[in-house]
Amino acid sequence: MAKKAPPPTDRFAPGAWKRGPAAVLGMGRSGLAAAKLLARKGFKVLLSDERPRKDLRAAAAKLPAGVSWEGGGHSDRLLKCRFAVKSPGLPSRAPVLERLRAAGIPVFSELEVALAFCPAVEVVAVTGTNGKTTTATLSAAVFKAARRRVHLLGNIGQPVCAHVGKIKKGDMLVIEVSSYQLEDSRRFQPDAAAVLNLTPDHLDHHGGMAEYAAAKRKVFAWMDRRQACVFNADDPAVAAMARLCRGRKLFFGRAPSTMTAAWPEGGKILVRLQGWKKPLKLAPPRLPGEHNLHNAMAAALLGAARGVKPAAIQRAFKAFKGVEHRLEDCGRRKGRDCINDSKATNVDSTLVALATLPETKTALLILGGRPKAGGFSGLRSAVERRVKAVLSIGEAAARVEADLQGAAPVFPCQTLEQAVSVAFQIGLKGETLLLSPACASFDQFEDYEHRGRVFKELLDARGGKAR
Ligand code: ADP
Repeated sequence: MAKKAPPPTDRFAPGAWKRGPAAVLGMGRSGLAAAKLLARKGFKVLLSDERPRKDLRAAAAKLPAGVSWEGGGHSDRLLKCRFAVKSPGLPSRAPVLERLRAAGIPVFSELEVALAFCPAVEVVAVTGTNGKTTTATLSAAVFKAARRRVHLLGNIGQPVCAHVGKIKKGDMLVIEVSSYQLEDSRRFQPDAAAVLNLTPDHLDHHGGMAEYAAAKRKVFAWMDRRQACVFNADDPAVAAMARLCRGRKLFFGRAPSTMTAAWPEGGKILVRLQGWKKPLKLAPPRLPGEHNLHNAMAAALLGAARGVKPAAIQRAFKAFKGVEHRLEDCGRRKGRDCINDSKATNVDSTLVALATLPETKTALLILGGRPKAGGFSGLRSAVERRVKAVLSIGEAAARVEADLQGAAPVFPCQTLEQAVSVAFQIGLKGETLLLSPACASFDQFEDYEHRGRVFKELLDARGGKAR
């Protein structure tokens, strides 16, 4: 009798892998969701994490039968598994992955495992260095306005594995995909995708800009003319990668050209797809900054590419209020306009936030946290023009001071609480207090959402109201 062919390793096909135990690397949100899904589908699962066992016990207590776990490192038990699923946070050069590869054990992404268990659905993916959550949320609103059953998933904090049971045939999945999720993907093939921008970020994880860009390219790597990819024509790195896309290409940009399918004009967004006699005019969502116009153009093109009618796109744009912690208007407090941009975890995002302010040097900018590579000198010119004072917090305080010396006075504050207090002492009525830290939050907070919530609580304690 002919020997049975081994399961394919270029994609995750649940049936083919059924016999084997599965390894899931990482006991974070997406690892736990993947382990639970696989267990539900009849796989034996070994969850493995480097963190000490005591830090994992609470999560382990909620694991279903069929899932065993290990902490404090990755043992050789993993090598008995037939395939592995990797949490996005684990760098692809991690020694455990080298060991698995050497043993011929294929490693799949949480995203692809989840999609393999979904019925026939439409998938729209949004990626880029900045603007993913805003664009994915707005795109989901566009599809909802077109009366689709929409699931907003992925890097937004909703692992696709955790939602598989709720997904029905014909549903629309709008997935925010990070470079971490993409780098592990073998055959991700969304029906439509958007690449918003590409600037240096997460380089310590990927190993360099070339690797980071290569990960992002995977969002369209398997596309053909039946799928569409939206690209930012104004971003040289994005425009360059578009050349490699074999799908239908839709560009948005600041100015109309033979290439652009969406551009801003006279306060409106114009959209014109191939074959349309005249462009469609849309009033953009009421959100600050040119970057949000980009996000809206991308969402409009994703909607149009998947056949959403203009009126539905317009309804979604009109009702959209933005996403919490992204240039979130926190109202006027004691005469100061307060803005929570806690999600600005890199210098580029903070530059984008500063660009929405007037050049009157009336902003008090709270900057700092756990610094990323590259420091803060990229902010100098914007700070010089727009910022009255910088209030530095967290581990980055000394670097903030060193990099921005002379651009604006820097007040070392250590904590967010102190920074808000100093801002109300030195700020005047009519000025703006902006939390846009250009840093990760993990030195003093659980995550950027926690940092944003604390900021808003501190503002609430000072009275006044969110608008
Ligand atoms: P992501 O999910 O990619 O982190 P978000 O939508 O959460 O993006 O926005 C995070 C921050 O990035 C915002 O506060 C804003 O400062 C900045 N940003 C948003 N959209 C864009 C864009 N299109 N281009 C550049 N920066 C952006």
